[in-house]
Amino acid sequence: MLIFNNKVDLNNYLKHNNLDKTSIGFVPTMGALHKGHLSLLNKSIENNVTTVISIFVNPIQFNNEDDLKKYPRTLDNDVEKIKTISDKILVYAPTVEDIYNGKIKSEHFKFDGLEHQMEGKFRPGHFDGVGTVVKRLFEIVKPTNAYFGEKDFQQLQIVKKLAEKEKMPVNIIACSIFREHNGLAMSSRNERLSAEEKEKSNFIFKTLCEVKKVFATKSAKKSIAFVYNKFKKHPDFKLEYFEIADETSLLPCIRKNKNKKYRAFIAVFVNKIRLIDTISLN
Ligand code: AMP
Repeated sequence: MLIFNNKVDLNNYLKHNNLDKTSIGFVPTMGALHKGHLSLLNKSIENNVTTVISIFVNPIQFNNEDDLKKYPRTLDNDVEKIKTISDKILVYAPTVEDIYNGKIKSEHFKFDGLEHQMEGKFRPGHFDGVGTVVKRLFEIVKPTNAYFGEKDFQQLQIVKKLAEKEKMPVNIIACSIFREHNGLAMSSRNERLSAEEKEKSNFIFKTLCEVKKVFATKSAKKSIAFVYNKFKKHPDFKLEYFEIADETSLLPCIRKNKNKKYRAFIAVFVNKIRLIDTISLN
């Protein structure tokens, strides 16, 4: 299993083995891998000659010091999980220096307003940090196809916009959400939940499934009120936001239009751990 800590070694390896001329599938992650990440890897392997996974906790996309400090870092374990899929996968686990060359600073992007909605409102600077690292990683890996989870749906739309605006020759492939048996969306942050918290957090997905039914017959306003009421009655969760938005523009749904596709988005604190989830409403 090959693990590269710097871009020069990775690029030399790709070049010397003529892999840079094959289709390269790329799965960017922050590590603490779970089955959601592995599903992205499987998709890449099916559709590309070469697959590269990056494992990099990107400091500039965290707007909360404590979240960055406590983010799980489990490289050895991650490598063991990757091996169960294929030992041909190339692991790129760079240092901060290798990515940023001494300039640990976000570029400022305009993503046609996508960046101002939801996560953008509550995590200032987050999408500039994401845009900066994804652009950098695309420049280094030069993937043919890059795989992103719908779990971070706003990020997925932003990465599509980034590739379009920067004219990067990469296909962005959306991958569906992998869930725990109880419906909780898999996330590296789930590792910080106790077994009990994990079990009761099925409430989040259960509520999303319920509001999908409500939205089928009622307005967005009534559907949103339904969710806020549910969470008001549940003292274990602190609802940060719940929104119903157009899938493409991410603008809030004011009046339903049958030609548009809508999606519900939620961010919730369980104890001090922030979880996000989303569901298609069409
Ligand atoms: P992260 O390591 O959290 O930055 O995630 C790396 C990639 O895996 C992103 O494209 C995420 O959207 C995706 N991902 C994370 N959790 C899941 C999940 N439960 N199902 C599918 N994809 C996921």
